[in-house]
Amino acid sequence: MNFDDTPEEAAFRAEVRAWLAANAQPRRGREDKFGAGLDKPQYLAAAKAWQARKAAAGYAAIVMPKEMGGFGGTPAQQIVYNQEEAKFLTPDRVFEVSLGTALPTVAMWGTPAQKVKYLASAFRGEHIWCQLFSEPSAGSDLGNLRTRAARDGDGWVINGQKVWTSNADIADYGILLARTDWDQPKSKGLTMFILDMKAPGVEVRPIRQASDEYHFSEVFFSDVRIADADRLGPENDGWKVMMSALMKERFSLGENFSGDLYAQLIGLAKQVVWGERPALEDPRVRAGIAETYLAQFGVELIVRRGMSAISRGQSPGPEMSAVKLIGARAFQTGGALAIELGGAEGLVAAEALGAQWRLPQLLWLAAPGARIAGGTDEIQKNTIAERVLGLPGELRTDRDVPFRALEG
Ligand SMILES: Cc1cc2nc3c(=O)[nH]c(=O)nc-3n(C[C@H](O)[C@H](O)[C@H](O)COP(=O)(O)OP(=O)(O)OC[C@H]3O[C@@H](n4cnc5c(N)ncnc54)[C@H](O)[C@@H]3O)c2cc1C
Repeated sequence: MNFDDTPEEAAFRAEVRAWLAANAQPRRGREDKFGAGLDKPQYLAAAKAWQARKAAAGYAAIVMPKEMGGFGGTPAQQIVYNQEEAKFLTPDRVFEVSLGTALPTVAMWGTPAQKVKYLASAFRGEHIWCQLFSEPSAGSDLGNLRTRAARDGDGWVINGQKVWTSNADIADYGILLARTDWDQPKSKGLTMFILDMKAPGVEVRPIRQASDEYHFSEVFFSDVRIADADRLGPENDGWKVMMSALMKERFSLGENFSGDLYAQLIGLAKQVVWGERPALEDPRVRAGIAETYLAQFGVELIVRRGMSAISRGQSPGPEMSAVKLIGARAFQTGGALAIELGGAEGLVAAEALGAQWRLPQLLWLAAPGARIAGGTDEIQKNTIAERVLGLPGELRTDRDVPFRALEG
């Protein structure tokens, strides 16, 4: 297989490079950050302005069809764009859930009216989306969720609680999974909705993290009204909608894993001297770097397959679980190798060691969360075993029992 650019891709790359050079600041070093020195509202405004500029140039949603506000491009073009954009300072995280999970789910399951109402404006960065699935007693097994959506005239009334909702504090809309029929088994009787996060009765309580950031929140619903026109997909079939969202999420998280960590490790291992020789000559270091490279290259290949599915209007398949499982682990082991390369100083903050240590350290700190978010390692293994390899399923004695009977 040849992964060099085709003439068309090379032309697209040149076009993208020229546009980025004219519209964004090049990344001078790994310590360079988009919006350094801005407070949160200013950062958000700058991030939205960047997204609008990107959309005007056609780069906001490259594989989405034109009629949905996308560029109608190919997966290869999206990869080329991502590779080039990584060399410039652009916002982090703000649109990750919007573009990676929520909007592709609306594009797949939404009615024509929903697509018109929500997609193009969100691609332009006018609205930020979040994903409201996990609850205090429903994480790995979302079939346990208890947030209730009760029919009321031509709409629904929502009561309950979500937790770990990334970006809830800045989101305008969210995709919300709720229980609509308590007499059906746990994974049936669920329905997906589009929620206006500013609707009366929605209360967002940000959770303070050890890093002093507020990345996710608890979200409470007290008699929140949602019109039936904002139901996303069939009534009581929300499990299917949720599964397609999760596969998109695993795919989108996977995109983050196909970076150049291995190249950075090579750079660090060349600088570090062990016993008067560069650490790069140590067989264990070489093996660690080779494993990181193989994991990242494998992840990139599966990501390409997922992009190709999205561009055909389909959902990436269960193989996306492998992307997340392998990618998050590679980040953790690669980060650990970087810290080992630093020797006694490896535990010192990157600020003191130099910019080239920043990314591996960040990965080391972020990888444990990445191994949980979007489904834990164990859940990915179950998915691969059952849905990719066709092995016998986990014993699930509660699968056919009405949810009402499981409560108590
Ligand atoms: C950084 C981050 C961002 C997040 N963002 C969001 C978000 O935006 N929206 C959202 O809805 N949620 C979000 N989450 C929540 C995330 O989806 C859940 O934390 C995750 O699915 C695990 O659920 P849990 O925390 O309830 O753990 P549990 O489900 O209680 O799992 C506890 C442990 O038991 C293991 N386990 C559970 N079931 C099985 C099984 N069947 N077989 C083997 N082992 C099992 C798990 O692997 C885990 O080790 C986020 C989480 C993180 C860390």
